[in-house]
Amino acid sequence: MIENQDRLISATPKDEEQSFDSTLRPKRMAEFVGQQKIKNNLKVFIEAAQKRKEPMEHLLLHGPAGIGKTTLANIIASEMGVNIRTTSGPAIEKAGDIAAVLTNLEDDDVLFIDEIHRMNRIVEEVLYPAMEDFALDIMIGKGPSAKSLRLDLPRFTIIGATTRVGMLSSPLRDRFGSLHRLDFYSDTDIEKILKRSARILDVEMETVGAAEIAKRSRRTPRIANRLLKRIRDYAQVKADGIITMDVTDNALKMLEVDELGLDEVDRKLLQTMIEKFNGGPVGLQSLAAVASEESETVEEVYEPFLLQMGFIVRTPKGRVVTEKAYSHLGIKYNQKQQEKLF
Ligand code: ADP
Repeated sequence: MIENQDRLISATPKDEEQSFDSTLRPKRMAEFVGQQKIKNNLKVFIEAAQKRKEPMEHLLLHGPAGIGKTTLANIIASEMGVNIRTTSGPAIEKAGDIAAVLTNLEDDDVLFIDEIHRMNRIVEEVLYPAMEDFALDIMIGKGPSAKSLRLDLPRFTIIGATTRVGMLSSPLRDRFGSLHRLDFYSDTDIEKILKRSARILDVEMETVGAAEIAKRSRRTPRIANRLLKRIRDYAQVKADGIITMDVTDNALKMLEVDELGLDEVDRKLLQTMIEKFNGGPVGLQSLAAVASEESETVEEVYEPFLLQMGFIVRTPKGRVVTEKAYSHLGIKYNQKQQEKLF
């Protein structure tokens, strides 16, 4: 089984991608492609906060990996003209860790907490008064003589990001002034992102090439940029450096990304569901066992795209492979399977 980190079409960032990501990351709202509704809302929030000379309300960005949550958080801070500090749910283990982060903030700072759904409850409880009253409650001593001391914090804005909004406890979710869902991009928007990236990377790309890469990018900017980088390398080595339709097609063939953006891991998963489970319904646990993965990874990494593409559907009994997936894989579809969906 291929590790998720190694998958070309994985939406999670690879370690060596940090600098590439930041080169291509839009810095201002005007450069951020698509997601028009969210951008409009945010512009109003930003302007209103600036007029009131107050920090912006805490806000939560949710949506699949690689879709622009971190980028948007950074853009908000720069449009507000304030500093951004970045941390993540798993990085804050103890109450003391979050207390240290909070006491180091300055007035108006943005604190970006990535993967906020992975923060533990003890840390969360420290965050409640911090978010509500800009205060930190510290317990001094133990037992009956213990006293609680309240420390004032600077006024700041938390921007939380999560791929799993349902996993957030409701007290935490309720403390955000607004929730914004970032959705998968249209092919046209991905094409715009690719053209912008090609300009920054100074690589020539024909429009048909851009359209083809967009089609195979799983509607996700991070994947689009990654494919672009690999195809650019291919064009430089095997062709004259220009990204044409042929170059794109050949490069993606070599990389085993098919015409709808599925890689061998996706195809294997669907094939196994068909061969071993007769197309389903397959429970999440069985699916995880087949993929040799944690069920959480299957839900967060493998499924969203397959569901979005309509290759599998969720039913009360489990996941079922659809006719569309059979025909994409060139496997004969048994009409009876349709009945399983209902
Ligand atoms: P997330 O935090 O949701 O995992 P990121 O914000 O890190 O995703 O986005 C991944 C990469 O995709 C960024 O480095 C950026 O280059 C690109 N990107 C994301 N959204 C957009 C967008 N709307 N316009 C242009 N580029 C984008």
